Amino acid sequence: MIPLLLLAVSLHTNFEAGSLGKVEPISATHFRCAVKGEVDQKGRNRQASWYYFRLDGAAGREITLDFVDLLGEYNFSSGELSIKKTTRPAFSYDNKTWQFFGDQEVQWDNLTTSLRLRFTPLKNRMWIAHVPPYTTRDLARLLAASGGSPYLHAEVVGKTVEGRDMILLTVTNPSVSDANKKVLWLMARQHAWEASTSWVAEGALRFLLSSDPKAGRIRNEAVFKIFPMADPDGVARGGVRFNVHGFDLNRNWDAVDPKLMPEIAAQHKAMLDWIAGGRRIDLFLTMHNTDGEYLAGPLSAGSPQVQESVKRFFELLVANTSFNGPLRDAGLSTTPVMPGRMTVNQGLFHDFKIPAMGMEQTVVFDSKLGRIPTAEDHLAFGAGLVRCMWAAVTDAHP
Ligand SMILES: [Zn+2]
Repeated sequence: MIPLLLLAVSLHTNFEAGSLGKVEPISATHFRCAVKGEVDQKGRNRQASWYYFRLDGAAGREITLDFVDLLGEYNFSSGELSIKKTTRPAFSYDNKTWQFFGDQEVQWDNLTTSLRLRFTPLKNRMWIAHVPPYTTRDLARLLAASGGSPYLHAEVVGKTVEGRDMILLTVTNPSVSDANKKVLWLMARQHAWEASTSWVAEGALRFLLSSDPKAGRIRNEAVFKIFPMADPDGVARGGVRFNVHGFDLNRNWDAVDPKLMPEIAAQHKAMLDWIAGGRRIDLFLTMHNTDGEYLAGPLSAGSPQVQESVKRFFELLVANTSFNGPLRDAGLSTTPVMPGRMTVNQGLFHDFKIPAMGMEQTVVFDSKLGRIPTAEDHLAFGAGLVRCMWAAVTDAHP
């Protein structure tokens, strides 16, 4: 008899963006996995929406993972869940190409508020994450690959708490005068777990720099400004939605403190300087993820012209991309009266009265796509998004 040698099954997070809370073995193949979650500077608004780990030594064995400690709070409202019945975690055997667990492998337990995964890995190395990850290395790879383009200018507009670069990209045709160009400003990854927004930003940049004739026309007629990663510290540590000091980077736009939230301060200053230099911003969009989608803009407070731009952009998105709405009024603050509760789009509308919008895109089953959106879907959406932003402020067809 040859003894059957089985590796011990183990879980690891010692890589960029890796995250998992306490792991308790129930048996050799069954683990109770707490999701770490994060709270803000006041210890409030806990969100447990990110896990990313490697499972070793499990090929051919049925594995059970119970995700627990999921309860959170959103805008001070308790009982909120980011991981829930509709969640289908992503997995990969090479840490590059990702797919999602099927309905038969996922089970939600309402009584214990936990999500159970039961599956049999095909290989001894398997990565599992809430959504397909996109790290600071992925962004560095993209920028290195795009660096030779005459249409791209990358600059560092500040540093994070931990000293990482805050990058601002400008894409336009520099041989055409900027005088009559529209200015379209895009922001991704204010919240570290929302990796899908980085895939969209990559798709947008790749399209803008491409040889597609429409991209050439857009470069001649518009300036695209892109903040590709608003929270690189959070992305690197596998964070959720707060910076190192606990500040939500999509709140606090009415209470910017350069020491406590240098990430916001750097972006805010770049936009203030742009406007102070006599330049315009025709459309601003920040991108987010949740288990649903909508576009929010200044509908009740905006001028007729601002409202028109928002509505036109929304209609173009619905007609030409996988986005399905609805359109909502953004309001003036997420928590009226309380300071430090304005999102970037609320803050920019407050300061400049421009069509500043926030978009949520779903990370669960999308009825318009007929599947959970993949990284490829997000890349494709990025190209459509660029066309729609440009068409929204011109009379052009996207
Ligand atoms: Zn978000």
